[in-house]
Amino acid sequence: MSENSIDTLEIAVDDLFWQECYEPITENDEQLAQLVDQADLPALLAALAAATGNTKILAEELRPPLTPVDTKNHPHGGMSAEAVEKAKAVALSGLIALRDQQITATPRLDAEAAEDILGFLSNGHSEWNNMLKHELGLTPENSGAPTWCYEDVVPAGRTFKALIVGSGVAGIAAAHRFAQAGVPFEIIEASDRLGGTWQKNKYPGVRLDTPTFGYSYSFAQKADWPHQFAQGEEVRSYLQTVAEKAGLSQKIEYGAKLISATWDEAAGVWETAISKQGQETEVRHFNAVISASGQLDIPNVPEFPGQGKFTGIQMHSQEWDVNVDWRGKKVAVIGTGASAYQIVPAIYEEVAELVVFQRNAPWMLPAPTYHAEVSDTFAWLVRKVPCYAQWFRLWTTVLGIQGRFHTVRAEENWSQAPLSVSHKNHQVREELIGMLSKQFAGHPELLKHAIPSYPPGAKRMLRDNGVWAKALTAEHATLEVSPISEFTENGIVTADGTNHEVDIVIYATGFKPSDYLDGIEIVGREGTRIHDYWQGDARAHNGVTVPGFPNFFMVYGPNVGGVVAGSLHFMLERASEYALKAVHEVLKRDAKALDVTQAALDRFTAWVDAENRQMAWGQPYVRTWYQNRKGRVSQVWPFTNIEYWEATENVLADEYEFLN
Ligand code: NAP
Repeated sequence: MSENSIDTLEIAVDDLFWQECYEPITENDEQLAQLVDQADLPALLAALAAATGNTKILAEELRPPLTPVDTKNHPHGGMSAEAVEKAKAVALSGLIALRDQQITATPRLDAEAAEDILGFLSNGHSEWNNMLKHELGLTPENSGAPTWCYEDVVPAGRTFKALIVGSGVAGIAAAHRFAQAGVPFEIIEASDRLGGTWQKNKYPGVRLDTPTFGYSYSFAQKADWPHQFAQGEEVRSYLQTVAEKAGLSQKIEYGAKLISATWDEAAGVWETAISKQGQETEVRHFNAVISASGQLDIPNVPEFPGQGKFTGIQMHSQEWDVNVDWRGKKVAVIGTGASAYQIVPAIYEEVAELVVFQRNAPWMLPAPTYHAEVSDTFAWLVRKVPCYAQWFRLWTTVLGIQGRFHTVRAEENWSQAPLSVSHKNHQVREELIGMLSKQFAGHPELLKHAIPSYPPGAKRMLRDNGVWAKALTAEHATLEVSPISEFTENGIVTADGTNHEVDIVIYATGFKPSDYLDGIEIVGREGTRIHDYWQGDARAHNGVTVPGFPNFFMVYGPNVGGVVAGSLHFMLERASEYALKAVHEVLKRDAKALDVTQAALDRFTAWVDAENRQMAWGQPYVRTWYQNRKGRVSQVWPFTNIEYWEATENVLADEYEFLN
């Protein structure tokens, strides 16, 4: 057996949505054949092999080759037509076996079977296995669940308490892992509801722009998502359910905001100031602080001359006032990024006039199912094939490992810069321009402005099913590309002298993503403020620890954002698990705290910087919000999930100083 093998395997037991039993299959052979025709075959074959215990069905010739994605997903991971036909026959036999043998229970697999299935899905990348086991939520040794318990480790007479700041996607991940280990903690949330970005963003059209099954925790593998790209409230309600199932919802202290945290070297604790609505600021002490306070949450509202004169309504996309009646009004949307892409198509039909102010056009990848519900076939598989949703989620994870990296890696001395960064990148550019040309057919002037002048992937790419072009080509819509020169009492004037009279201005102008921990005063060893230490260039080892700030952990800190591959939830879970491992090391040693060395951070930063410089977003002629004010790419993780898995596997003693 390989070193990756496992002794016992219970699928998704470290899963708050774990289900013992599935509905029996009652369909006849013909109906089953029709279902197979519509199914995603690699995920289905994996699920059938697991459910029936017959991994022999996963023949070498049926392995998905994992053809890398340029712009569109390859059906079945790029399986040949011949393999697809064979796989369909195998899947049909598998479904018939499930029906005839009345198999409805969640399977238990032996280690070898697990290896076989992972090998099939990953096309033999056994080096991915441990990470994939984590994503499947195997328990206990192979999931992200801690295998140690606070009570067993905490030295006699000692207590340890952490503060978790925020109850968004990151805070819930951290709180769940800390709770599993039994480490005492408090969790505070500035808002009055949990969900972070998903409770703040309520603008019309808000939804995921990445596929839903790639946007969930390994420890909370919800199966019955209604949409392929979940709506905003669906994601928020998922987070609410996760918090409830994990026993966290009662623990969250709402309306409590971290104002400052100051390290007390002598006592080895953080002295925090927490403001509570309508009450005096409280001082509380903690052994560790886990910052999960968000990244894309500080609205960027640009300043324009005369803005204060405007008598209409102005609001940032994240501060959407649901009481504002925009129907029948003249509406301006400033910005053409991910938020605008969702707002504009959602409102354009019901506004009197729409003007969209564009500085740079967005690149958009085709996503025909962007507004679609999950198919009936998919819903059937989820109900009747044991653990199908878990295997499908894992399959999504597998496809996301290499993602679209190959499309954004720059070639040296590439002749088509700044339009593209490589041969492949240029191909993608041409393909996407082809898509835009069809969408804007008959609107040559609009098409000219819809084509970005920077390489695909240099900024975050949107998902498109044609609704953007449909909205912009509407008769009452205008795409304004002349820069805004000033606001007047009743509208916006652009540099070409046009006066756009509007009732409502929506700032879809994004956030201040580089301003990590903005508005919070973190004072570390020797009285150093974190913002002084960073000097506008936030850095953290593995995106988590900062030298001079002992037992301070960032979950979703600098340089851990995946943009063409990987999964946000994976990064957040791993960062949380890494922080928890650090706490474990501190307790085991009966130390007060640990502090990452400057050398470790410098090595990490040099490593990610060098890789980011190879990417579209790292080219000197590209300006993107992935870069901070200093021009360093401080947002992006330029590697796959596997490298982050390895980087966060252990808290290395030679990278940390332990404070006693
Ligand atoms: P964004 O992508 O940063 O886009 C901001 C837009 O505003 C850009 O078009 C930008 O133009 C423009 N802009 C900024 N300042 C301007 C100014 N002074 N004058 C004119 N235009 C200006 O922001 P976002 O759309 O809010 O999205 C931010 C991120 O949030 C996304 O990339 C994504 O990670 C996340 N998000 C996710 C979802 C989702 O999953 N469903 C939805 C929304 C947002 P330039 O391009 O010229 O800078």
